[in-house]
Amino acid sequence: MPEKCALVAIIGRPNVGKSTLMNHLLGQKLSITSRKPQTTRQQILGVRTEGSVQLVFIDTPGLHSGQPKAMNRLMNKAALSALRDVDVTLLLCDRMRWTEEDELALVAASKQGASVALVINKVDLLTDREALLPFAASLSGQCAFDAVLPISALRQQGLSELIRYVEGKAPTSPHLFPEDHITDKSQRFFAGELVREKIIRQLGDELPYSTAVEVESFSENSKGVLHIGVLVLVERAGQKKILIGESGGRIKTIGTAARKDMERMFGQKVMLKLWVKVKAGWSDDVRALKTLGLDPQGDR
Ligand code: GDP
Ligand code: MG
Repeated sequence: MPEKCALVAIIGRPNVGKSTLMNHLLGQKLSITSRKPQTTRQQILGVRTEGSVQLVFIDTPGLHSGQPKAMNRLMNKAALSALRDVDVTLLLCDRMRWTEEDELALVAASKQGASVALVINKVDLLTDREALLPFAASLSGQCAFDAVLPISALRQQGLSELIRYVEGKAPTSPHLFPEDHITDKSQRFFAGELVREKIIRQLGDELPYSTAVEVESFSENSKGVLHIGVLVLVERAGQKKILIGESGGRIKTIGTAARKDMERMFGQKVMLKLWVKVKAGWSDDVRALKTLGLDPQGDR
């Protein structure tokens, strides 16, 4: 059998379930997820190879409108650049909750040459599935959907149909990654992401927009223990206090949860050190974002 390979973009507004879908398609947690929008800041590739067919999924940061901060401009750029050169675009939406931001994603998807499938996610929360077809039909005036796929990324419903559809779109082409690769990102990258996820989960609305993490050190000692040092940047002294918590309790909880996930993901014992520093205005400073690895053109 000749090798086949498809590049598949997963796009949609924040919170529709892109990262959840990616994680379940790969059978492994790669993208951090949460109820808060904007959890995913950087493009992550996920690779699924089965026999002769390789699918390379791109989980994009959501498309945003009306948010002037440099952070959001960069995220839009990353989301849009993912649309170039893909074979299939999966346009995700949350049931029939169609918003202006979905509209933005639809326009972006329809402008690009590849086939677009409308993926209606979270159908586990729907009582009336009959309404899905008229809903899809009402959108098809704006974009000729190649397929309409109702799924539940969380409950893993409709995923085998989705995979079969995408596999059918894969052109004959050599694989882009070795068979045992599941991502283009390093362990170092995931170490930072896991710390960020725990911060978001611990602090809810209080901090996520103004927190960045930077993995400062990552090394393995002779006993096979990974020593990982992560710097957490916040914008104000008050945020630092919140993050550290009463006698360091909160940062300790965050560190323990992140370390456990790292040990599970890397299959190794981890010694994790966290520092919190204040750097005013970081989220509106494009240069600072780039040094934090948030440059969408970056190749880490
Ligand atoms: P993203 O911003 O598009 O990457 O969205 P996430 O994957 O981070 O998911 C956002 C939220 O929606 C999380 O709380 C998920 O658990 C939830 N979610 C994702 N898919 C489903 C689904 O199929 N059903 C339900 N009920 N919730 C889902
Ligand atoms: Mg995401």
